Amino acid sequence: MDYLPLHFNLKNQPVLVIGGGDVAQRKVDLLLEAGAIVRLVAPRIKSSLQEQLRTPHEIIEGVYVQTQMNDVVLVVAATSDQTVNAQVSNDAQQINIPVNVVDQPALCSVIFPAIVDRSPVIVSISTGGASPVLARHIKALIDTHVPEGIARVADYLLQKREALKTAFPDSDKRRRIVEGFLNGPGKELVINNQPAKATPYLSETDSMAGEVYIVGAGPGDPDLLTLRALQLLQAADVILYDNLVSDRVLQRARRDAEKEFVGKRSGYKSTAQEDINTLLVRLAQEGKRVLRLKGGDPFIFGRGGEEIEALVAANIPFQVVPGISAANGCAAYAGIPLTHRDYSQSVRFVTGHPKDGAVALAWDELISPNQTIVFYMGLGGLASICQQLIAHGKSAATPIAIISKGTTPEQKVARGNLETIVKLVAQMEIESPTLIIVGEVVGLGTH
Ligand code: SAH
Repeated sequence: MDYLPLHFNLKNQPVLVIGGGDVAQRKVDLLLEAGAIVRLVAPRIKSSLQEQLRTPHEIIEGVYVQTQMNDVVLVVAATSDQTVNAQVSNDAQQINIPVNVVDQPALCSVIFPAIVDRSPVIVSISTGGASPVLARHIKALIDTHVPEGIARVADYLLQKREALKTAFPDSDKRRRIVEGFLNGPGKELVINNQPAKATPYLSETDSMAGEVYIVGAGPGDPDLLTLRALQLLQAADVILYDNLVSDRVLQRARRDAEKEFVGKRSGYKSTAQEDINTLLVRLAQEGKRVLRLKGGDPFIFGRGGEEIEALVAANIPFQVVPGISAANGCAAYAGIPLTHRDYSQSVRFVTGHPKDGAVALAWDELISPNQTIVFYMGLGGLASICQQLIAHGKSAATPIAIISKGTTPEQKVARGNLETIVKLVAQMEIESPTLIIVGEVVGLGTH
C-alpha cells in the first residue's frame, strides 16, 4: 500500500495554502468545509478568496517564506511556479509537516482523494496520484449506489450505540444484530426517514417481518431507472415483476434475487390482483425484502394503491419509489413536449381501455382546446377514441401520435391526425404497449 488513508480532523486547525488562483480556490473550499483555519499566501489573490478568507483566516499578499509554516498542521502548494512548489515541499518535509502539492504526487507526503460526502459517512478514493480522472470515475460509481440517507443511518447507529451496549453486552452478538439491521428493512426505513419504525429491527430479528418496496421501473430503457430503484434492486430478496418490465431492467437486479413474473401474458391466465396482494404480504411475513417492480410509475394506472391497502392492513412496512411514467418517457424519446407555452397549458393522463367495446370517458372535457391528452392502454380502443373526439367536436385535423414500445430499441412512432391514424397504425404494424398523445404539441417535434 503506497498511501495509508487517514481522515484528518481539521476543525480549527491552521493550514497553510500557497497560491491565489482557481486551483487554490478548490482546495480552500474543501479546507473550509472541513473547518480549517486557512492562512493563504500569494502575490496575487482572486477576489473570491479574499472574500472567503476573513478573520479568523489570514491572507498574506506576498511571496512564500518558510516561517509562514510555523504552527500549521498541513501545507498545500497550489502555485504554477515549479520552483516554489518544490521549495514548499522540501521545507515542509524537513520539519515533518504533511504537504500536498497539487497534481505533483512526487512532491507530496499526503494526497487529496476524490470524496463521496455523506457526512458523517465519508468515502475517499485514491489512485495514488496515477489518475485523478479514474478516481472521479470510481467516485461516480459509488455515488450511484450509496443513497444520501446513509448519513441518517450513521447518525441513527451513533444515537443507539449506548442502548445497544446495555441491551447486548456481548460484542459478537451486538455486531450480528447491527449486521442484520443493515441487511434488512431497518436500514431502508432509516434511509427513508422513518427511524421510529426501524427500531424493532435493532433486536433479534429472526421472527421479524420483512418489507415491501413498490418500485417504478420506468417505461423500458434501464437507464431511466431512478438511483433509488437501482439501490433497492440490488438489495431485494424477491422481485415480483409484471409484463411491462423489460428484461434489461431485470438484469440490473441482484443476481441471486428470486424473480417471479406476476403479470399478464397472452395465452396464460393473469395473476389476479388479489393473489399478488396476498403474495406480497406472505413473502414479507417470511422476513423477505420484497420488491414489487411495476412498469412506469406505480401510482399512475399501476394499481399501486391497492397493494398498499393490503400492506397497511397486514401491518407490513413498505416504501414507494416513483418511476418515469410512460407519458414522460415516450414524450421525451419521441420529441413531443407534453405542454407548451403557446399550444397547451395542461396535460391529462386518461385510460383508453375499452369496456364492452367502447371507451367511456368525459369526452366533453377532453375536446377543449389548448390541452394535451395522453391515453394509456388505448391501442384496442383507438378507433373509438378518434371517433368520439370528432363526434364531440374536435377537429379531424387534430394531430395525434402513437408511440409503441417507447424508450426501448424497438420504439416506433406513428404521427397523423384523428382521421388518418387508424390506417397508419395498421400499415406500420404497431404493437402494444402503446401510448397515445393527442394535441397540437404532437406536430411540434417534426417542424
Ligand atoms: N404505471 C405505468 C402504466 C401502466 S398501464 C406507467 O406509469 O407508465 C399500461 C399502459 O402504459 C400501456 O397500455 C401503455 O399505454 C403504457 N405504456 C407503458 N410502457 C410503455 C412503453 N414503453 N411504450 C408505450 N406505452 C407504454
